[in-house]
Amino acid sequence: MTHVITSLCLRDSGCVEVCPVDCIVPGVPQGEHPWYYIDPDTCIDCGACVPACPYNAIFPADDVPAAYTAKGGEYISRVGLTGHYEGTNDHGVQVVLETVKQLEAGEVVDLTPDTEANAAFFQSGPGYKANDTDEAKAARGG
Ligand code: SF4
Ligand code: SF4
Repeated sequence: MTHVITSLCLRDSGCVEVCPVDCIVPGVPQGEHPWYYIDPDTCIDCGACVPACPYNAIFPADDVPAAYTAKGGEYISRVGLTGHYEGTNDHGVQVVLETVKQLEAGEVVDLTPDTEANAAFFQSGPGYKANDTDEAKAARGG
């Protein structure tokens, strides 16, 4: 079992520090991998990352909602979306996302495709090498 970061992630980065096995990695390049991702082969399912996420983006793999009902105002971040988001992450660093959509109250979204994205990031994407990029270092405050 593993935990999964879904497309509700807005790259706050607060989950990274609390993970005891350092298996959460920022997606880079951001335009192709817009969230942070959990390595399913290393995650020990401790759950420490869940309360660290201000956007409630993290779920145990078995509980990723197929019909997530939006409270209204939260963002979904997926390649192909064209909205704009600006915020500040856990390190006080600016976050700008151009692949988002703000959800309306009652809007229903299937988050289950996001599970595969976590595994694919490590199997066929940048994986842990992303930690060494300038983009990832900047997200940590340099
Ligand atoms: S704390 Fe939440 S929003 Fe921030 S990187 Fe982790 S999953 Fe994404
Ligand atoms: S559940 Fe625990 S081990 Fe898995 S990503 Fe979250 S903090 Fe790390």
